[in-house]
Formats: sequence, structure tokens, C-alpha cells
Amino acid sequence: MKKQFKSESKRLLDLMINSIYTNKDIFLRELISNASDALDKLYYESLTNKDVSVKKKDLKISLSVNDTNKALIISDNGCGMDETELENNLGTIAKSGSLAFKEMMDKKKNVDIIGQFGVGFYSAFMVSKKIVVESKSIHSDKSYIWESDGASGYSISEGTKKDNGTTITLYLKDDTEDITYSDYISDYKIKSLITKYSDYIRYPIVFKDETLNSMIPLWKKDKSKITDTDYNNFYSDKYYDYEAPLKVIHTSAEGMVSYKALLFIPSHTPMDYYTKEYEKGLSLYSNGVLIMDTCKDLLPDYLAFVKGVVDTEDISLNISREMLQQTKSIQLISKNIDTKVRKELEEMLKEDRDNYKKFFEAFGPQLKFGIYNNFGMDKDKLKDLILLYSSKKKDLVTFKEYIEESGQDVIYYASGETIDKIDNSPQVEPYKEKDIDILYLTDYIDEFMISALGEYEGKKFVNIKEEKSDLEDEKSKEVTKKLNEENKDMLESMKGYIDVSEVRFTNKLKNHPVCLSSKGDISLEMEKVINAMPTDETVKAESILEINENHPIKDKLIELYNNNKEELEKYTKILYSEARLIEGLQIDNPSEISSLICDIISK
Ligand code: ADP
Repeated sequence: MKKQFKSESKRLLDLMINSIYTNKDIFLRELISNASDALDKLYYESLTNKDVSVKKKDLKISLSVNDTNKALIISDNGCGMDETELENNLGTIAKSGSLAFKEMMDKKKNVDIIGQFGVGFYSAFMVSKKIVVESKSIHSDKSYIWESDGASGYSISEGTKKDNGTTITLYLKDDTEDITYSDYISDYKIKSLITKYSDYIRYPIVFKDETLNSMIPLWKKDKSKITDTDYNNFYSDKYYDYEAPLKVIHTSAEGMVSYKALLFIPSHTPMDYYTKEYEKGLSLYSNGVLIMDTCKDLLPDYLAFVKGVVDTEDISLNISREMLQQTKSIQLISKNIDTKVRKELEEMLKEDRDNYKKFFEAFGPQLKFGIYNNFGMDKDKLKDLILLYSSKKKDLVTFKEYIEESGQDVIYYASGETIDKIDNSPQVEPYKEKDIDILYLTDYIDEFMISALGEYEGKKFVNIKEEKSDLEDEKSKEVTKKLNEENKDMLESMKGYIDVSEVRFTNKLKNHPVCLSSKGDISLEMEKVINAMPTDETVKAESILEINENHPIKDKLIELYNNNKEELEKYTKILYSEARLIEGLQIDNPSEISSLICDIISK
């Protein structure tokens, strides 16, 4: 019976055949990579399951061609698939057996979304008019045949294969004027594709009695013999990323602990990066054998974006997951990797600013969170990797650069939704006038990071939207103080009309009539962030309505207080709403405010 692909698979199939992979050659790499995974799975099982016995040297991938039918045949003697697995793994694109395997191994449901997007196998339809997969699972007595011509669906029937493993026959599409599909059965093409894309595969890829690949994993090769293309191919193959990595770190150590590591920093944020689905970790190999696909313990959380592999001789092959965490060598390797990656990032920051900015755009929030997380335990490791926007430089700077270039004793900052909004806010104006540099914070995590840092190299942070920030000299402070004392009763009654903890005159504004400042631990920005979180908790910053003592509004208010208290209430409410709007906060009663404004302007 012919079955239809699940409908979403059909759409994806079209999409993929026609657009995702513009480079048709890669289908072979995908199939070889699946075959290699199947051999890994079988080998891994043999280490942990006494009933499965295999000899590593027998494991291989074979290629052959059928000239008459124009068919390319790829077979492996790996774990194979039973009927249900064929159905589940090849019947629908979104489902992927590697994913299920990973889940089973890790006993948890976190996975890389792109990785689970099993389009690999389907890329073979780019070059094939028909695909036949015969497979026998290590756990089943029977073999099954999956057959499909792509568009119209697939069928599954019983087969005759005796040994475990999978044989995939690709019936190549007919040649067209533009594309010679029959190239894919030429010796030359097959050999060059294998050396180009699959050389590091750790099992022999045999074609006409010849092993085509060197089998030396990339990380074990001599660095001087590896090209950027080799690294990029390895990366995109293993991490399903169509963009080349921003940075490759190929490193090794000997001594207390011996290992080789090949690490990558992606050039963009993975789709699921800032979700709980994302799983950090590096693949762990013991002497070339995969022990664990994503070993979390090799990376600190703040470097969760790093991808790559670690190969060490210092752990045994059949070590259990629980033991692994306790293993001294894993802890040592993790510490080394932490230091190494941060050093590389610092270097990139110094030598290659543009790329660092690109990195920071993708993963900056992760580093900032790293400073805040764990009660600021890691802040000293990360503080010099942070970039923030400087109002004077109009560009991103480090804390160090801010201090060196501004020559200031304190680090001023202001937060808001966008650079523009902060730049136009009333509190910023007088600082600009005095040519003082301010860091503009627009990321939700920024203020939390600042509060975790507390200070930077002895320099205090000052939020210019907080009451304690002031630029005035003692004399003008006295003037303001007097003014506030004289009008104490009026300010007190104004406070009664609105929801603030204080109303007062200020000398710190230039042209703007009012602003809202905060006092205490929670700033107005933090109020917004915390309240936007999906928890029941709501907080309120203690806010102060500050009125510009040099603005004509001052006299107007005093006049109203003496002659018309009812009007004073309206004015106060409007001024308060103005101040909230400037801060990017909501006003609770917009219709009341708009009729108050109308009242006043129609007089
Ligand atoms: P992915 O490799 O991204 O998981 P694929 O579409 O390439 O997606 O493959 C889907 C699934 O089919 C794999 O995860 C694997 O479980 C199974 N599979 C593919 N090829 C083989 C093979 N040669 N041997 C055993 N299982 C295979």
C-alpha cells in the first residue's frame, strides 16, 4: 500500500529540494553521515549491551554503482531500522531517529531544533527520481524495504536482507541540459566528494575495494594541513548550520590531562538559543570513539554557545554518565576550555572588533547573564568582554575604554528601550551639555548585570535616572533645597494626586519640564522587565516626579496652588503622565488624561 508523507513533510520536501540545498553534492555527505551515526549507535550499544557483539574493524560503509540503472548504492552494517523506525524516520521529515536516540541516551527532552530537523536523508531527492532503502535492525529478524519517488509518497514492504544494516539505492534523475546527474556514478566524482566532505568519517568508506577516506578525525589532523574549508565543512555537517562559524579554536593539551579540542563559535544565534530547548555541551570522544553527544560538564553556562568536540585518552570507554561528572579529567578539561575560549574572545575583541561585535550581538546577552547569574560569581571572568553603547563615542565600548576615554571617576548609565529614546530623555540633556559620557543600556538584562557588578575597578556606577545622581554644585543645591522647603505644602498636595513617593523641584533638567526618577533598588527599567516576566510577581519602582525649577511651569503651579487647587490637580496628573510617557511607561488612565488636556487647551 502506498502511504502519503505527512502533509507538513510534503511541503518541506518541496521546499528543501528546491531551495535549502543549492549545492546538490552534499546529499552524499548527508547519507554517509547517517551511515556513520548508525555505526556509532551499534558500537555504542555493543559497549553497554552484552547481547550485541561487534568488532570495530568490521564496521564500514560501502559504495557501489549500477551503470545500467544509473544507480548509486550506499550501504552500512550499522544498527539498521525496523519497520516502525523506517516509517517514523523516513516517513516524516520533522521526526528524526537521531533525535529519539539522543533523548533516550540523555533521558531528557532538550534538543537542538535544527539538528532534529531531519532533512538530511531527503536531500537525496535532489538527485534521485526514486530511492529504495532496505534495512534490517539489530533488534529484528526481518528486513524491510522503504521505497519512494518523492512526490507521491512511499511504501514499505518486507525484504530479504540477512545482515543488520542499511542499503540505500538512489536511482539518479535523468540528465538535463544543465545538470549531468549521471556524474554521481563516475569514479572521479565519487572519490572527490568523499575526500572533500567525508574524509574524517571514522569508519572506512569503501568503493571498488579501495578505502577513500583517511579516517583521521579533523581534530587529530595536523593543523597546518587543514584548510578553512575543511573546518567549515566539518562544522556545517555536524551542526546543521548553513553559515560558516565566526571562529574556530583548534587546541590541544598534554600534561595533567591530555586532550584535543576542536571548538566553534557560531556566527549567529541558533533559532532556539534563548529557549529552554537549547542544550549546551561538547561531543566527548575517548580516543576517537564517541562517548557522549552533548557533554554539558565541559562548558560553563556562559559559554553555552560554543560547539565542538573534545577527544581525550584520560577517560575510559565505558564510563557511565554519572561517573563522568565526577571525573577529575573532565573538570580539568572544562576549566582549560573555559580559559581558552575567553582568551580567544578577548583577542578577537582587541584585534578584530567587527567580528567581535557580530559575536556580541549574537551572544552578548549570554555573557551579561553570566555576570548576573550565580550571585555574580563569574563576574570578574566576564566583565572585560562586555560592550555597551557610549553616548560620546556613539559606538560600543568596554568598561575599560569608557574609563580611559572619559577620564571620569564614575560610570554614568541610563537605560531605556532604544538608544534614541534614551538620548532624547530629559535626564540625559544636562550631562550632554557638560560633555559627560553615558553608557546607554537597552538590553533587558543590562541593569541586572550592572547591579551584579556593583563597581568596575573601583569606579562606581551611577544611574542618571536615579535620585542620587546629581551634577549640581553646593550653591545651586542650596537654592533647590530652599525652593522645595518653601513649597513643601504644595508638593505634598501634588503627591496626593498621583502615585509617586515624592514630588519635588530639581535643578538637573535643562529644557524639559518634568522627569521621573527612581529611588531604591528597583529602577524604572527593572520594573518594566520584572513585570513583563511570566510570573505572578509584580514590582513597583519607587518613583519621584521631578519638576524643572527653571521652567515657567514652576510659577504656574505655585499660582494654581494659591488660587485654584482643582486646576492644580489636573496639571499634576498631566505632568505625571508626561513623565511616564517619556520613560516609556504606560499611563493607567489615558482617557481621563486626554479629557484633562482637552479641558485645559480649550480654555
Ligand atoms: P537526521 O540525520 O538529521 O536525524 P535524516 O533525515 O538524515 O535526519 O535521517 C532520519 C533518521 O533516519 C536518522 O535520524 C536515523 O535515525 C535514521 N537513519 C537514516 N539513515 C540511517 C542509516 N543508514 N541507518 C540507520 N538509521 C538511519
